[in-house]
Amino acid sequence: MAKDVDLSKVARQHLEMESFFTGFAVKGSRDAAACVSAEQGACASVEQAAPPPRQVGLDPVEAARNLEALAGEVRQCRLCGLGSSRTHAVPGEGYARARIMFVGEAPGADEDAQGRPFVGRAGQLLDKIIAACGLKREEVFIGNILKCRPPDNREPRPDEIINCLPYLQRQIEAINPEVIVALGGHAAKTLLNTVKSIGHLRGQFHEYYSGIGRPPIKLMATFHPAYLLRNYSEENRRYVWEDMKKVLAMLNLPIPERGKS
Ligand code: URA
Repeated sequence: MAKDVDLSKVARQHLEMESFFTGFAVKGSRDAAACVSAEQGACASVEQAAPPPRQVGLDPVEAARNLEALAGEVRQCRLCGLGSSRTHAVPGEGYARARIMFVGEAPGADEDAQGRPFVGRAGQLLDKIIAACGLKREEVFIGNILKCRPPDNREPRPDEIINCLPYLQRQIEAINPEVIVALGGHAAKTLLNTVKSIGHLRGQFHEYYSGIGRPPIKLMATFHPAYLLRNYSEENRRYVWEDMKKVLAMLNLPIPERGKS
């Protein structure tokens, strides 16, 4: 039986979501997003200081090709039972040379139906958070710890995580982002190999090690948008915004302010 939905709560959340993570703009009307996807030197016409050059790494076309090949493997994967219960695998999507990579827990019903990450209600909130940062969804990469939906949205099981994690690790290696934003406890604990709670981990940078000889990648843990929707307090929203401001500062990107343009 479908769970009862408190429509007034959903409507209030929607309105609050509209107002909390919208209305931000970069002072001087700088298009921050343009610089995020641009390679070195492409931000010359921008009023504020251009961000530092993108790290050395694979060229975007080669990185995109690697990611597409990996997505093909994910779509064929039958390493665990989720391979037969899913409608679509959800490999992840975004810019192959993204400076920021968001990592969630696992696809839900909407993602399973469409084969795309974060397209349901939590995804709409994530889109707003990304936009509040002055970024566009196409300029970041969005993935998950698990690539297939656990039935009834149950928690990922350890064996599923063990089977699936190498796909994410290879995506991280291909993209080589400057910052990973781990959305929620499952993503943060898995990537940092810790049992500490998200309450303990969020708000500060950690280091993710992507391989021997490779410099660690900065990882910011923050609350999962679905958690925010369930616990929709001003305080929790502010925590997430504070975490994202730290990410923008780390990347030397301008921090949008409310009501300024
Ligand atoms: N929640 C997640 O963790 N990932 C998605 O893709 C959607 C919802």
